[in-house]
Amino acid sequence: MENELCPAAEIGSECSLRPDSISDSSRRTFLHAAGLLVAGLMVPQARADESSQAQAGSGHKVVVVVVGGVRRDETFSPEGLVNIPHLSADLLPKSLFYHHARNEGVTAHFNAISSILTGNWQRVDDWGKLAPTTPTLFEQVRKGLRAERSDTWVVASNKALTSQIGASSDSNFGPAYGANVVFPKQLMIQAVADALREGRTANMADRSKVEAELQSAMEGANYEGLGWNVFDASDRLDPRVRSSIKAAIANFVRSGGPTSGDELTFFMTREVMRQFAPRVLVVAFSDVEAAHFGSYALHLAGIRSTDRLAWQLWQEIEANPDYRGKTTMVILPEFGRDPDGSSTNGFFNHRANVDSTRDTWMMTLGAAVDKPNVVERPIRHIDLCPTLAELLGCPALDSSGAKLKELRG
Ligand SMILES: [Zn+2]
Repeated sequence: MENELCPAAEIGSECSLRPDSISDSSRRTFLHAAGLLVAGLMVPQARADESSQAQAGSGHKVVVVVVGGVRRDETFSPEGLVNIPHLSADLLPKSLFYHHARNEGVTAHFNAISSILTGNWQRVDDWGKLAPTTPTLFEQVRKGLRAERSDTWVVASNKALTSQIGASSDSNFGPAYGANVVFPKQLMIQAVADALREGRTANMADRSKVEAELQSAMEGANYEGLGWNVFDASDRLDPRVRSSIKAAIANFVRSGGPTSGDELTFFMTREVMRQFAPRVLVVAFSDVEAAHFGSYALHLAGIRSTDRLAWQLWQEIEANPDYRGKTTMVILPEFGRDPDGSSTNGFFNHRANVDSTRDTWMMTLGAAVDKPNVVERPIRHIDLCPTLAELLGCPALDSSGAKLKELRG
């Protein structure tokens, strides 16, 4: 069943993304506190994996930002640049920019990211019920370099992904070498629910209202079954963040509800970088997928927020001593979207077998970039994984992808 693309759950969930429905400052306060809260939830499991093993590898780190479907028309085209001021004006001049990065596989979310992360075109279940069939970059790094789980992370807002994105079904690799996979929005809801439960005896006048908000957030976004298996619900809140969470809950109630998934993903990503400094960090932004809901304005708003968050992520890399000077950051869409006038409703979807859907771009920044340049030679999404594996110092694996010769460690 190729290209049935986004589950209905994903389509419905975007209804709740109304970034301007609440005030910016309370939203930021809440997101920041929620990021801290979820980081607190993650600590016990991540620390349990740590050991005193010496680290192999090149010392290089990679941060891969995978965006949902965006067309060239709305991004790197003369009329699209207005939507990506940071990518085009702040980052492009420093980057090695591949003008044509092609998705020649299945243009559905799980398969697209699986192909990017394995270096082989994956044709597994579109809904993420089956793992990729060949080893992910995470497994290659963990097995090849004896790296810890806390060294490899996926932080995703994309509800078409599942925890299966963290490891393949290859019997020589698999979940024992998989990444930490985090869906911050689900975790945030779980964490806030836990905080409420723990606070039952406290004087929380707004509690019933908070619970109603959570209930509607969960129902509106179809959270069932996604992400909840990653971290155990019995994990406790870190006491350090308890008070900021209480304040955040109050703000959450006052401000009226759910916020952009990508904002939360960004805050979570930054917390992961600061707490664990992983060598391989994959961030999946998907506010742009509001397109499935049929709103061009929300789709463009998603592109603009992706542009801003990618820029902020690069700033974090440059400011964070664990990353500065030794990190390559890559930004690429999973695919484009269908052309206007197509039988599949244009920008709504990404299922047409045409360049508007398959031909996108890829930006690379940082340590592997010798000098800024624009590469016109078309590359394929599967070329990225073997390239990053080599930068990280991993033993080479068979891959359909070819190493990108312009990027060097
Ligand atoms: Zn989609």
